[in-house]
Amino acid sequence: MRFSKILLSLFFIVPTLLLAQADQAKTRSYYQDADLVPREQGVDFLNLSLKVSFAPVEKKVMGEVTHTFKVLRKELESLQLDAIKMEFASVTVDGKEAKYESDGRYLNILFDSPLNWNTQHELKIKYEAHPLRGLYFIGWDDTTGTSRKQIWTQGQGINNRHWIPMYDEKNDKVISETIIDFEEGYEVLSNGELLKKKKVGDKMRWHYKISKPHPTYLIMIGIGKYAIDEKKSASGVPMQFYYYPDQPEQLEPTYRYSVEMFDFFENEIGVPYPWNKYSQIPVQNFMYGAMENTTSTIFGDFYLVDENAYLDKNYVRVNAHELAHQWFGDLVTARASAHHWLQESFATHYDMIYQREAFGQDHFDWVRMDYINKSLKASEDDIKPIAHSEAGSTRHYPKGSFVLEMIKYVVGREQYNAAIKHYLEKHAYANVDSEDLLIAFHEELGISLDWFWEEWVYRGGEPHYKVDFQADGKTANFFVQQIHEVNELRGYFKMPIDFLIAYKDGTIDRKKVWVEDASKLVSFEQKGEIDYYLFDPNWQVMKELTFNKPMEVLKAQAEKAEHMLDRYKAIEKLVNMDFEGKDDFLMDRFKAEEFHAIKAKIVSYMVPLLSEKSEELVELAAADADVEVRQALLESTYRIPASLEDDYRKLLEDKAYNNVEMALDLLCFYYPMNKSVYLGQTKDIEGARDHGVRVKWLKWSFLSTQNEEYLKELIEMSSNKYEFLTRLNAARALKDINYLDERALSYMLEATFSFNSRLAGPMGSILDDYFKQIQHRAMMVQYVSSRQWSDREFRKVKGYLIP
Ligand SMILES: [Zn+2]
Repeated sequence: MRFSKILLSLFFIVPTLLLAQADQAKTRSYYQDADLVPREQGVDFLNLSLKVSFAPVEKKVMGEVTHTFKVLRKELESLQLDAIKMEFASVTVDGKEAKYESDGRYLNILFDSPLNWNTQHELKIKYEAHPLRGLYFIGWDDTTGTSRKQIWTQGQGINNRHWIPMYDEKNDKVISETIIDFEEGYEVLSNGELLKKKKVGDKMRWHYKISKPHPTYLIMIGIGKYAIDEKKSASGVPMQFYYYPDQPEQLEPTYRYSVEMFDFFENEIGVPYPWNKYSQIPVQNFMYGAMENTTSTIFGDFYLVDENAYLDKNYVRVNAHELAHQWFGDLVTARASAHHWLQESFATHYDMIYQREAFGQDHFDWVRMDYINKSLKASEDDIKPIAHSEAGSTRHYPKGSFVLEMIKYVVGREQYNAAIKHYLEKHAYANVDSEDLLIAFHEELGISLDWFWEEWVYRGGEPHYKVDFQADGKTANFFVQQIHEVNELRGYFKMPIDFLIAYKDGTIDRKKVWVEDASKLVSFEQKGEIDYYLFDPNWQVMKELTFNKPMEVLKAQAEKAEHMLDRYKAIEKLVNMDFEGKDDFLMDRFKAEEFHAIKAKIVSYMVPLLSEKSEELVELAAADADVEVRQALLESTYRIPASLEDDYRKLLEDKAYNNVEMALDLLCFYYPMNKSVYLGQTKDIEGARDHGVRVKWLKWSFLSTQNEEYLKELIEMSSNKYEFLTRLNAARALKDINYLDERALSYMLEATFSFNSRLAGPMGSILDDYFKQIQHRAMMVQYVSSRQWSDREFRKVKGYLIP
């Protein structure tokens, strides 16, 4: 921990030299990125008007789309649209039949004579499609009528081209209009305002139009049976909350904070909400969390939660994320995929800062720490920068979000907000790239953040600082080294960093110093007996840190540091150290702390010890007000001593369904003789949308009674009458029981054909596990080989053909 005098003296000379060299050596360096350049186009599309109706049972779309466009070239002989596997009844340009070719991917329109520069034209296409992507028919093939019946779309990335022939790229924006005919009794939602709703023939016609241009991947339709709650933002924007009419108890917990976050964003972003209404619609079997379609967000109905399910998984964070996209992504849109972070990092950033508003500073800091950990983990594989089309979701979401927080740390929140406001206003309803954001900071504040872009946007990785601390009574020194590998993709990081020394008399000394070279010495005049010391208190900078501290210093840090993260980091180290009175010390910290992460850390260390102290801790944790602490207890339980069975039994009545599920599993496993008591206690609980508690209950009930009724119910729950999470839960329970019959197999196979990879993938793994077992294999081979499969299905089932 000591450093030599020679090294110290070197230190005062080297930095200036290094700085001069570094300046000259700085060049912008990228991983190659195929999606840096937007696709070329000969026209500017202005309007897209879509008339559409559906034959849901046949999964068919019947459409007529009218594109208005302006020619961008001196002469234009043809035009190419994206159109996957469609049948065309007619194609007209300016009212006249046009020549066209289609190869199942593109629709090429050949003009009789070339179109001229700046002229405006109308292209009308009548077509039909059976889309495999982009538009989904849910529940229409369930003949029992159990499933909800819906139609919904998911355009991003490039899937609207499966049901609308169009130029399907994010670098052109249109005013879109949708006219949808559908049977009465259903709600129909699309982008923009509902201009008209009237009966035409035996159907209802819904006419929507958006007020301003938006990218075509955000065109949406959502159809189903819903009730709608209406509210208004402080600024008067109408908000619509769709929910299932048979589950009204889910309305409030699902949409909690919706109006508050809307008002917060308008205030914080400083640019009014860019559209004239905002709707949110939940749909069944959604393959992502949610999608920020302009004015009309779609989200997975697993986020429709009651008061209890809210505790396990709620919509607040995703709700904020999609709302933020209405500015970042919908109002300003990345020109090419290399700049995708301008959408996702911003949406994640604003959802993160809304979480601070709703859940407090400790929660916010805990999210930030999670984002640091995820980013460091991703860097173990490669160090792609956030401004890269293949950066991956960790860079596009959490890392980029943290990077934006670091810009704020460098320039201050108010100045950051001013630059962002300028950026949004300058590029409203248009496209942007990473340079546009950088330029906005210079134009608005006169600040050149090129160095910051260089290290955090265009290059990848994170700094790894090694810090040593030494004090001799007169001077206290922090010696900082950047010890990560430096190459053309990752350099030394330049960042302002806080250094803090806390004295035993309670006084605190701190200074902010720029660290930018391989090493840096930061000295303090020592003013007394040192209690603890911190490098970058509260983790403002994303980094890996190696900083060994003596146990007494860590104990002081765990007890006294101002920020939760610094106390947590000390506890994290202390649980891995041996010292006298450790259990008492940790027990005291558990009682003193309020934030769940610190308490959970102590629980996960102490509970498995099964000591006298840990029994006391189990009692406290089981009764803790925080759902996460009770969850940590259940996750850390490897054995339940008889003296604690009662404490765990109380968790069968936990408000959070996940905790009930875990408690039921643990208790039935460790105390099988009491199963009937536990099952009696939980028999009326369904759980969240995934029927988690009910599935666990059926599994244990079958195992304890062998009553086939329970098995039958589980098998039915694995069928397409149910939404996908229920199906997976039920299939996993059947797998635990290790039961498979033809009916269950047929349901599980059908699930592997789903468009939803979150269903198809895991269900495939479950079936693979069954197939490994000789007692199921013969039946599976027999079943698969005796049936007809489409090409698409055959690709999935062929693995089960050979015994
Ligand atoms: Zn997003």
